Amino acid sequence: MRALPFGALPPFVPRRFVPQSTALGDWSAIAPLFDQLEARAAECKSPAALEAWLHDWSELSAAVDEEGARRHIAMTCHTEDTASKQAYLEFVGRIEPELKPRQFRLAELFLKHPLRNALPKERYEVFDRDTAVTVELFRSENVPLETEETRLGQQYYELTGAMTVQFCGEERTLQQMSKFIEEPDRATRQEAWELVVQRRLADTEKFETLFDAMLRCREEIAANAGFEDYLGYTWRRLRRFDYSPAQCVEFHAAIEQEIVPVVRELQEERRAQLGVTTLRPWDLESDPLGRPPLKPFANVSQLLERSQRIFDRLDGELAAGFRQMRELRLLDLDSRKGKAPGGYQSTLNEARLPFIFMHAVGVQRDVETLLHEAGHAFHALATQSEPLLAYRSAPIEFCEVASMTMELLGNDDLGEFYSEADARRARRSHFELVLKIFPWIATVDAFQHWIYTHPGHTRAERTAAWVELLKRFGGAVDWNGLEAARANLWHRQLHIFELPFYYVEYGIAQLGALAVWANSRRDKASALAAYRRALALGGARPLPELFEAAGCRFEFSAKTVRPLMERVREELAGLRGA
Ligand SMILES: [Zn+2]
Repeated sequence: MRALPFGALPPFVPRRFVPQSTALGDWSAIAPLFDQLEARAAECKSPAALEAWLHDWSELSAAVDEEGARRHIAMTCHTEDTASKQAYLEFVGRIEPELKPRQFRLAELFLKHPLRNALPKERYEVFDRDTAVTVELFRSENVPLETEETRLGQQYYELTGAMTVQFCGEERTLQQMSKFIEEPDRATRQEAWELVVQRRLADTEKFETLFDAMLRCREEIAANAGFEDYLGYTWRRLRRFDYSPAQCVEFHAAIEQEIVPVVRELQEERRAQLGVTTLRPWDLESDPLGRPPLKPFANVSQLLERSQRIFDRLDGELAAGFRQMRELRLLDLDSRKGKAPGGYQSTLNEARLPFIFMHAVGVQRDVETLLHEAGHAFHALATQSEPLLAYRSAPIEFCEVASMTMELLGNDDLGEFYSEADARRARRSHFELVLKIFPWIATVDAFQHWIYTHPGHTRAERTAAWVELLKRFGGAVDWNGLEAARANLWHRQLHIFELPFYYVEYGIAQLGALAVWANSRRDKASALAAYRRALALGGARPLPELFEAAGCRFEFSAKTVRPLMERVREELAGLRGA
């Protein structure tokens, strides 16, 4: 296996249960440690002993998890190295399938433990309810159905991955086509958009058939687990203890009333800047004034230096965290041959240190990505002293508050990268991005609420429901003559196929991030102090308390959305024409 970008990183706290010599890539070395934990459960005769048992379980899980993370990082940093790939695939193929049932068994032992309710209540309530739901939802008859669902999911990837079009004399994948939608020349971007849409339309029947099969599979899983519909089942599976489907429906209405009008104003401004009669679907991504892309930095060391200065000005503790990551080489940012595509933040759970991977090519999106991933990294650093692995990460609804807040706060300070005019342009386009995702989130989420509460619906009814939602949330885009493309637009949304219901989280988190940003405009130091306090809680408290600690409310009706949009409108007024 090739060397990792970073050097030796010792465990954050010395191991006390897992022997130093344990080969963590070898199941026969790991299994006896699970045996020991299973045997020891019954021997825990005091709450303190049970707590120590939980900590040892965390230590083992973190050590094994870090082994997997290290192998994943090595593979993505050196895709040309077959040994690194092999090492990772071995872990996925040999360790993970063994691990799952053993983790499940320990969860069962914990739930049955006579001293479970003797543990400090507030400290363990989140852990307890999360563990209980894992065991509660398990049905052996669902195991083959889940395998089937994974297999169907694979088909969606194959279907979309195989799509190519001929453009400018070259065969290109749909991912490669995405950059042409930003072309300043309108005819070029229209051609690119239409080619992609036609290609997707050619597979309409395949997408619909695949989705019908997934739907049947999901309805059966829910019924086996004793739920009336898949919506109810998924709500529990996604551990949505702190909000209801009705609150999401309220959120959709708030987006329609409070955000869609702002998006329409931005679209009208864009239309006028482009000098076109109506805004067509291919007019939404290009720079409305036809300017060349912004160039925030020439190389990765500039990106690092300038981002560091942004953090230095924001908050001493966050800045120190980023400096430590640089010193320990926990950032692999440059785009070079042999690196896997995409970007991620991963946590080495035993060293309790974050790692950031991305492909910086010198565009504004890179600055936003680094700020975003740094927010996740700050979250990992803030929870270092938490002994329970489960509490060293928060639910996604709050993880994304950590990252999206950093984007907004960092983008307030883009003078490190740009002239005043360019910084204004970058900030305006970031706000446009932040706002226009809300109506899309509402559309995708409301569509799934409809799908999973209308059993036995026909394809025609499903399409009609989708088109209705696009009319409701679609803004001022002219789809005349493109009705078929509009009716099938949901086929491109991976989450509807692969990760049912997992999407509204981003909208919930973005509201929280906008609230922290608005607080920072009133009092930067206290907003950042609250942000850090909330990050330090990790996942140890329920969502409403995490939001409250960060200085915002876990509430997403118009009551919360309206004042935030007023604040965003003021900001946009100051950026008009930028
Ligand atoms: Zn994120």
